[in-house]
Amino acid sequence: MSSVRLNNVAKHFGAAKIIQNLSLAINDGEFIAVVGPSGSGKSTVLRLISGLEPVTEGTIQIGPRDVTTLHPKKRNVAMVFQNYALYPHMSVERNILFGMKIRKESREAQRKALSRVVEILHLEGLLKRKPRQLSGGQRQRVAMARAIVRRPELFLMDEPLSNLDAKLRNEVRLSIMELHRKLKTTTVYVTHDQVEAMTMADRIVVLRDGIIQQVGTPQELYQTPANLFVARFIGSPA
Ligand code: ADP
Ligand code: MG
Repeated sequence: MSSVRLNNVAKHFGAAKIIQNLSLAINDGEFIAVVGPSGSGKSTVLRLISGLEPVTEGTIQIGPRDVTTLHPKKRNVAMVFQNYALYPHMSVERNILFGMKIRKESREAQRKALSRVVEILHLEGLLKRKPRQLSGGQRQRVAMARAIVRRPELFLMDEPLSNLDAKLRNEVRLSIMELHRKLKTTTVYVTHDQVEAMTMADRIVVLRDGIIQQVGTPQELYQTPANLFVARFIGSPA
């Protein structure tokens, strides 16, 4: 079963062909990392999947639905960026619950979903605080809680660790992995850091100038890189 399918997707900005002929099938529950140097089109791929940018060519399917022309709000996708803005005047708890308001669920269902993500992301002691009273890593964990609490079909993350120092980066990285292990939400994770991709992902997509170079498990990319670019990027000896 494939949860996301990109079929011959292209994105042009004027004459610039930013994404070309991109086809990819992502399995239900899979953790996919999209890697590539700065400017290779990683963020654009996420924006196409979430609907923040329309595709120039091709189609996008999420679950059984063709979402190619569907409004972002109707795609049931959650996205976390590197500087995800929390509402500064709301407590952590209200920030997270805000992610649920759109779904008309019972108060009890909301409480249940809240306590589950709070537990997984270790936010118990922080619920009454305001965002300014949190560290960068804690803020990023709250942003993830807010995104995932409404149980999206698909979770997109765009370099969520890049604004954190090394210690916090590791803390949040482990939280992301724990979240995925427990909830198994299909995830597309963008990073320019091949070590992150190699340690976190089931499969890695290597992008260069908007063209997929290779898709494979970390081991496949390391042992049989498709070309010199992939080998150098992954740090493979091949
Ligand atoms: P990455 O996330 O891998 O760094 P991006 O997807 O942000 O790359 O950008 C890929 C290319 O597309 C870059 O050359 C960038 O300048 C260009 N680009 C992105 N968004 C736009 C836009 N709205 N208009 C014109 N060019 C854009
Ligand atoms: Mg980017």
